[in-house]
Amino acid sequence: MHYLDNAATTKPPETVCQAVLRAMTENFGNPSSLHGLGVGAEKILDESRAAVGAQLGFSPEETYFTSCATESSNAIILGAAENYGKRKKTVVTTAVEHPATARPVEKLEKNGFKVVRVNPDKDGKFTAESIASAVDEDTFLVSCMLVNNETGYILPAAEAFRKIKKRFPDCITHCDAVQGFLKTDTRDLSKTADCVSVSGHKVGAPKGIGAACIKKGVRIAPLLLGGGQERGFRSGTESVPLIAGFGAAVKLWAENAELYRKNAFALRERLRERLAAMPEVVINSGGDCSPFINSISAAGLKAEVLLHFLEARGVYVSSGSACSKGKKSSVLKAFGLPEKLLDSTIRASFSDDTALSDIDALADGLQAALAQLCRVR
Ligand code: PLP
Repeated sequence: MHYLDNAATTKPPETVCQAVLRAMTENFGNPSSLHGLGVGAEKILDESRAAVGAQLGFSPEETYFTSCATESSNAIILGAAENYGKRKKTVVTTAVEHPATARPVEKLEKNGFKVVRVNPDKDGKFTAESIASAVDEDTFLVSCMLVNNETGYILPAAEAFRKIKKRFPDCITHCDAVQGFLKTDTRDLSKTADCVSVSGHKVGAPKGIGAACIKKGVRIAPLLLGGGQERGFRSGTESVPLIAGFGAAVKLWAENAELYRKNAFALRERLRERLAAMPEVVINSGGDCSPFINSISAAGLKAEVLLHFLEARGVYVSSGSACSKGKKSSVLKAFGLPEKLLDSTIRASFSDDTALSDIDALADGLQAALAQLCRVR
């Protein structure tokens, strides 16, 4: 099997599975319970919280567990509007956000807020100033992702936030850092971002666990009300096994981050070399993109057909973005991808365990698809 859909989700390593199992068999207490089993479970939360927060520059007290990054972003965006959107009515975001940000922002728009969506320039790039200059005195929230999930493009979120904070210190800055978490160095993100959303399952943790980091003093109204867990931000008994897995995954990544990043650059290089020999194939992700995400268009081949052709050879990729489920991607369009390629774009995304043999299998598969599928068209 050649799994190249790691931006959709990753395979948890053995150490993560062991941490999850231990939390279910040995530390099955409720972390809110006062007895020893509860204390043992609480210790897992403390350790994982510190590990996740540290990679984003936030303290454990500023780090909250959620069920996924979608929940984190929804809670932050809607919760910021509840507390800061009484007098100020504008939200600034980009035209290339993941639906986890785009949908709650649309909800605010439907409820009467003004939304400014910053587009990339004609070359498909953003500058910090293009984002910062969209903010004015009426803006209470700016939400900008760190790494785009469809192309790997790295947005100048931190620099834009720095400019915004200088001009409008009260404006809340939120970063969806899901695809950049650990894959880029995010340990300084707290210097400019008030709030950050991340997901566990993109870095080897189980699915169903995420985190929201919220700077001390920033008041985000909670989405879930109840027993007051997660210091009132997210009521509901914490999923100790998933949090144990999240902590183990983050520790493993953090210890090997340099190695994993180097590996991703080498994989991207090999991909470029191999695809350079195929004139019908274009790599849409430029040199300034994350090496972990590669958007590839094969003119004349439908992405879905290509995906299944590759799958039959044991190569797993996604069509555009896993979340768009075959719909034409408005994000790729915003990045300036020609209309005729929107339907012909797949995404190959890497993780710590991706090898050169996976890249070769993809390239061989693409070559075979061009030879066989183009002939029957
Ligand atoms: N933001 C980005 C950039 C993503 O790529 C994803 C998932 O693909 C999400 C948010 C949502 O993450 P989750 O699956 O944890 O809700």
